[in-house]
Amino acid sequence: MKPPVEFLKIMEKELGEDYAEFLKSYDLPPEKGIRVNTLKISVEEFEKISPLTLDNRIPWEERGFYIKDTDGAGRTIEHAAGLYYVQEPSAMSPVSKLDIKRGERVLDLCAAPGGKATQIASYLQGEGELVANEPDLKRCFILESNIERMGIRNCIVTFSKPKALAEHYPNYFDKILVDAPCSGEGMFKKEENAVIEWSPENVKACAKRQKEILEEAYKMLAGGGKMVYSTCTFARQEDEEQIESFLNAHPDIKLLEMRKLYPHEVRGEGHFYAVMEKKSGEQTELKPVQQKYDEIYERLYREWESQALKIKIPVLHQRGTSLFGIFAPVHVPRLGCGVIVRRAGVFLGRPSNDWKRFEVSHTLAMALTKDEAKCVEVDKDTALKYLRGLTFECDSDNGWRLVTCSGQPLGWCKVVNGIAKNHLPKGIRI
Ligand code: SAM
Repeated sequence: MKPPVEFLKIMEKELGEDYAEFLKSYDLPPEKGIRVNTLKISVEEFEKISPLTLDNRIPWEERGFYIKDTDGAGRTIEHAAGLYYVQEPSAMSPVSKLDIKRGERVLDLCAAPGGKATQIASYLQGEGELVANEPDLKRCFILESNIERMGIRNCIVTFSKPKALAEHYPNYFDKILVDAPCSGEGMFKKEENAVIEWSPENVKACAKRQKEILEEAYKMLAGGGKMVYSTCTFARQEDEEQIESFLNAHPDIKLLEMRKLYPHEVRGEGHFYAVMEKKSGEQTELKPVQQKYDEIYERLYREWESQALKIKIPVLHQRGTSLFGIFAPVHVPRLGCGVIVRRAGVFLGRPSNDWKRFEVSHTLAMALTKDEAKCVEVDKDTALKYLRGLTFECDSDNGWRLVTCSGQPLGWCKVVNGIAKNHLPKGIRI
């Protein structure tokens, strides 16, 4: 689909003599990439076992590789095991500029479907706290499933408006990513809808919404903290002018870097980012999670845990009928405080309707390592059978077992007399 004529006129004016090269870039197919999930595997190990043909590394993200084709990339054993995430190469640039260190508190304010949130998690390496927020419920479900597949343990997923978050987390975060909803001009090659929905009025509406989101983000950034604002659009109102007006309103914010990635200059689609720092101010402390759960929840879970796992999950936390495991000290907003928490740490499961058993979640399977659970190791053929939802024969003792392939967890099975019953959720079978 061709970009809108009115948009091209603006770009011609903007780019001058570079416009011809920019226009030519629309004749080329979009760049594709994957990012290795270093929570589960090192980049070097992944290079040896990759089911996809890897091209060069992506210059701005050491975990990223260009790939020729993404067809089938979402249906491999390694994808199901959460070893990589398919992500547009330029979209990997903003997080690489956040300079995230282990143990920091990081907010991803506009997080679905989770490309950048899962990237942030791989920088944190399970230490510190990631709050991934998405105010659109359908998109929040996708975010949660990606957080689950990548085995992230230290994430709170919230479904809230930025204003509600800002009231709860004033001056709290060391790093904030605002990957703002935008007019998507940089994605015209990839997404037909971006072309259909584009209009000057929409650019204006996006700029207004981004300004509101940025204002709330500002309130949540601790003194000395860094914030990256990014879009996948070229529109100056949403990019340079947005940042200019933000800096004018906040003299304590210093601009460290601002860059636009053009498809005729880099191997990637259009993107924009601005890296900023809050020069002064405090950092708020909030109490880590309070342990809150019914005894019956703990009893049923611990019974299940003692026969299936080799570890004891340190902190349990209950919300409604869901039990969560907290591996790293994170703060969980109280019920009724205005922030809607969808996931607090790792969702463990819930008691069965008759209160006799604990129904374990797939999320827990993905968050464990092979050394933390009793496992059934399978070859690739059996792994594919398992991922299709079939049972298989195995010589393990009876009980709940973590199915692993090359040591990487795929999900749960329950072994009864040499037959492994499949407990992979139906929705993610391939
Ligand atoms: N960071 C994501 C990733 O890398 O996968 C992509 C984010 S996308 C560009 C922008 C997201 O912002 C969308 O999921 C959209 O639903 C969400 N959004 C829309 N309005 C918002 C608002 N007022 N505050 C926060 N997020 C919003």
